[in-house]
Amino acid sequence: MRLTCAARGAFQQLRAPLALVRNVPRRSAHSSSGPFNAAVIGAGITGLTAAYRLSKRPDCTKVTIYEKSTRVGGWIDSEVIDVEDGQIVFEYGPRTLRAVAPACLPLLDLLHELKLEDQILYTSKASPASQNRYIYYPDHLIRLPSYDRNAGLISNFWRLFNLFTQEPIIRHALWTMISEPLKDEGQPATDESIASFVSRRLSPEIADVLVSSVYHGIFAGSIDQLSADTLMGLFRDYERTDLRVLGTMMENSREGRSTIPADDVLALVPLIQDKGTEYIKHLSGLVKSNSTLTLKKGVGQLTEALLAALKRSPKVEILRGTDVKGIFQNPNDSSGLGVVCGNNQTRHHNRLIATNSAPSLARQLEYVSKPDVKRPQKTIELLQDHNYAVTMMVVNLYYPNPNLIPVRGFGYLIPRSIPSEQNPERALGVIFASESGVGQDSAPGTKLTVMMGGHWWDGWQESDYPDHDTAIKMAQSLLQRHLNITDTPTVARARLQRDAIPQPTINYRQRMLALSDSAKGELNSRLTLAGAWYSLGSTGVVDGIRQAYVATEFGVGGVNHKTQELAADLFGILTDKEGEKANFRNMPNATGGGGGIPRAPIRAILTPRDSRQKYF
Ligand SMILES: Cc1cc2nc3c(=O)[nH]c(=O)nc-3n(C[C@H](O)[C@H](O)[C@H](O)COP(=O)(O)OP(=O)(O)OC[C@H]3O[C@@H](n4cnc5c(N)ncnc54)[C@H](O)[C@@H]3O)c2cc1C
Repeated sequence: MRLTCAARGAFQQLRAPLALVRNVPRRSAHSSSGPFNAAVIGAGITGLTAAYRLSKRPDCTKVTIYEKSTRVGGWIDSEVIDVEDGQIVFEYGPRTLRAVAPACLPLLDLLHELKLEDQILYTSKASPASQNRYIYYPDHLIRLPSYDRNAGLISNFWRLFNLFTQEPIIRHALWTMISEPLKDEGQPATDESIASFVSRRLSPEIADVLVSSVYHGIFAGSIDQLSADTLMGLFRDYERTDLRVLGTMMENSREGRSTIPADDVLALVPLIQDKGTEYIKHLSGLVKSNSTLTLKKGVGQLTEALLAALKRSPKVEILRGTDVKGIFQNPNDSSGLGVVCGNNQTRHHNRLIATNSAPSLARQLEYVSKPDVKRPQKTIELLQDHNYAVTMMVVNLYYPNPNLIPVRGFGYLIPRSIPSEQNPERALGVIFASESGVGQDSAPGTKLTVMMGGHWWDGWQESDYPDHDTAIKMAQSLLQRHLNITDTPTVARARLQRDAIPQPTINYRQRMLALSDSAKGELNSRLTLAGAWYSLGSTGVVDGIRQAYVATEFGVGGVNHKTQELAADLFGILTDKEGEKANFRNMPNATGGGGGIPRAPIRAILTPRDSRQKYF
């Protein structure tokens, strides 16, 4: 691969630390911890990835995975179904994985390690699924503005002009955006909801229609409850500048600067250390023209391949159907934690990575009540406070007719402002699944997924949820009303996903940082938290994998000087600021020799284009 001059310079700058780490055994990266035996609770994507990474560490002597279910994968659940003319894939959990560097680079590395490259299906940025995203408002589909790479400048302008003249909400959005920089800053001292932030900066209507739809799609959550500081922290920072949000975004774009979550960069450190900068650039090149990816037999192919790789490792023991009941700190031995399983057997581990939900972990830490075992009371309370996740129904439908959907695209989302007569099913959105996973099905036809519930079902009892057949009828009725689809699906399967998506509610980040500190302090840095319930930003498969990389590199045992220097160099080069290096030299203060929620000492970095392009 040819390097640009700038990239060559960067490569040379990284060369010194790289050369150092390449010439010493891998073990030296974690020299301060010594040999240890580790355990992971949960075999979802985060737990499986963490176990896989730990199994590669020479200083990790044994990895035990505890999974309460008899299957692995957690929310990842793909089904390959035979139909008349071939096969189709239904997803009951995640289906499209973000393919944006640097966030997706650990995922790509994992796919490479598991030899799944030829199973990847990329969705190009120019495809209808990337270009066309709709909302249903007020009673028809509106295509959200985006630049169509397949059309010229004039047709793009014409399309925007038409949207502007025909759709009052788009007209309103443009006006409010243009006037945003003129509004005074009015930020409350603490966190606020997304609805509050967007209403202040733009308008309540934009929050109700456009923004509520987006968060129905990502969190199935309510913008009245989701935290602006956690999910829109960057924009809140921009609000405090003279140019406000839009002005700062335009200025950054004009100067070629973009913001990257610092944890995404931190996760690259082990990759650079093991495989070098060229490898990072190679992986980034794979996704340059793509927006998402999936696998030929569904996302479940990834967890199946991880399971197979773990089974091959003599270090790994996988205990399926094993519910962890208790976790405790042995009063006579500060070097580890005891884990009590369903059969009341206790095992001891030097390091534990928990990926199960916060309420489940709180129960485990409360379980052991021997007089000499000190309970981590503050940690338990913080975990008990983090107890809100939404339940949703996923309905997959397959029709042999390939021409059922009136438009092409990823699908549509339904805003909270839609009156219940138009959405009595309380649907969140519809995915045009044959378009979002092109190449998965060998049978022709149309595949649709209807998502219902989420925050709309808060407070519902078990008996309130629709059963399997009712859910399918509800989905069909919605599709008839919204898309005029009257055909009967030949395969239809619904799944109720209880407490599936944890919600980062107001003050979430602050609570998570307190949880991280107390877990570290009360459990002697032996308990590390990772996964969807402990994410400090977005939650998805890519984020779980990234957290597993960060947790196994920086959250388990000490981080040695060379790893730290490499991280400092990387941040220094990416930001083009010597000052950022200092932040990263202090990293052990943030990661503290392991435990808690491992993370970078700062939240995000601003990278000039030239610096960024040296890596991705
Ligand atoms: C319907 C749906 C659609 C989604 N769509 C997408 C998407 O398109 N793209 C995307 O990127 N993300 C998507 N997500 C989010 C993504 O699926 C999750 O963020 C991710 O799978 C979480 O993985 P995890 O390993 O952190 O947690 P989990 O998958 O929840 O794994 C935790 C594991 O811990 C186990 N466990 C719990 N308690 C115990 C115990 N006491 N003892 C032992 N084991 C225990 C559980 O059985 C489980 O296997 C979706 C989620 C849902 C529900």
